[in-house]
Amino acid sequence: MRLSRYFLPLLKETPTDAQIVSHQLMLRAGLVRQTSAGIYAWLPVGLRVLNKIADLVRREQDRAGAIELLMPTIQSADLWRQSGRYDAYGPEMLRFKDRHEREMLYGPTNEEMITALFRDSVRSYRDLPRTLYHIQWKFRDEVRPRFGVMRGREFLMKDAYSFDLDEAGGKVSYNAMFEAYLRTFAAMGLKAVPVRAPTGPIGGDMSHEFHILAETGESEIFYDSAIEDVDVTDPEAVSKLSSIYAMEAEEHEKVTNCPVPAERLLSRRGIEVGHIFFFGTKYSASMGLSVQGQDGKPVTPQMGSYGIGVSRLVGAVIEACHDEDGIIWPEAIAPFKVGLINLRSGDAACDVAADDLYAKLQHAGIETLYDDRDERGGAKFAGMDLIGIPWQLVVGPKGVSAGVVELKHRKTGERHELSVDAALEKLGG
Ligand code: ATP
Ligand code: MG
Repeated sequence: MRLSRYFLPLLKETPTDAQIVSHQLMLRAGLVRQTSAGIYAWLPVGLRVLNKIADLVRREQDRAGAIELLMPTIQSADLWRQSGRYDAYGPEMLRFKDRHEREMLYGPTNEEMITALFRDSVRSYRDLPRTLYHIQWKFRDEVRPRFGVMRGREFLMKDAYSFDLDEAGGKVSYNAMFEAYLRTFAAMGLKAVPVRAPTGPIGGDMSHEFHILAETGESEIFYDSAIEDVDVTDPEAVSKLSSIYAMEAEEHEKVTNCPVPAERLLSRRGIEVGHIFFFGTKYSASMGLSVQGQDGKPVTPQMGSYGIGVSRLVGAVIEACHDEDGIIWPEAIAPFKVGLINLRSGDAACDVAADDLYAKLQHAGIETLYDDRDERGGAKFAGMDLIGIPWQLVVGPKGVSAGVVELKHRKTGERHELSVDAALEKLGG
């Protein structure tokens, strides 16, 4: 992508209305713009990151055997009356009427809709177990939308729903999602702490939240430092992690005899990026979902639901990965892999060399943002640092005459002079 033809509105000043660093950086680096309280437009660079996170989430859901579909954002109130949640949900639900005076709502979650879809499509025990998911926008009219996309009113969520014939099967599905979550966050370069969570109004008896540690996190969590030693690729990771103590402060305070020795008990702030629940027959029973069992008798399926805050993750990753110059994207979700800088646009030799390198990068399928604008070198460097692209390739007059380019690693700050071919090889071209 040539920056001279792109849409990347960077801000020089730190916006005063943004309180936390991820929100400030998302505005400065041109990722998002607020269009109303808690509602954001995703600008091109922000959208690239959002899509990459969604793709990674999708990859791990698919690997865990979950099946993707897409449910609408708008739902009917009648559906929610079937579970009894229409009245229970409260003012976070955005409700409105269509032209025929039918009561509608913008979905804050999809348990009702998926249960109805499954109920109306499935008859036999042979159709279970199944886990279905979608990645779709949600709306919750939060009292205090804040911290940018971290607590928005409109936000992108991956929500999965499992259907099993018995409780043991339900737990297998739950653990498969637990493992998928560990893989998903690890693939983004994040270490997520799974915290035992209360099940709240959704009901049921098994639930974990996944928290990214960050000082600006809204939750305070207490956990056994042994959690940090668990390797998430260990096949036993789920059983190890679910048996190590980790609680949100509110729950921790209710524990009278904390099993963790004081020197191992850590207290940190966390950002909730995922949440998994097992809630048994809460929705299947209330909404009349039943299948014929192997013995011919009706069975009420056991269900779970599993959310990941896809748009919240964009902010959470920045909270975990930045420095004073800007964002430092983990490579797997970076908007571009390479930022190509022409230090002297307008100089014929530099233009030819940079254009040629850009063509080679494109040919090699390496996602590149090419700063070909007529700007000072300092501004170009600062821009690339701010946007946080993992590798910067610099074409300047001295290098051009010597036949070399400079490659800078954003994370470590290391710089090397290399031939074009060596640089391409290093970048995987
Ligand atoms: P929170 O406690 O942060 O309000 P929640 O427990 O109400 O979240 P869930 O119903 O568990 O949220 O939703 C699943 C995931 O969706 C959360 O783990 C979070 O990552 C994300 N999420 C929830 N609310 C928001 C929001 N207002 N803005 C952005 N992401 C959100
Ligand atoms: Mg939650």
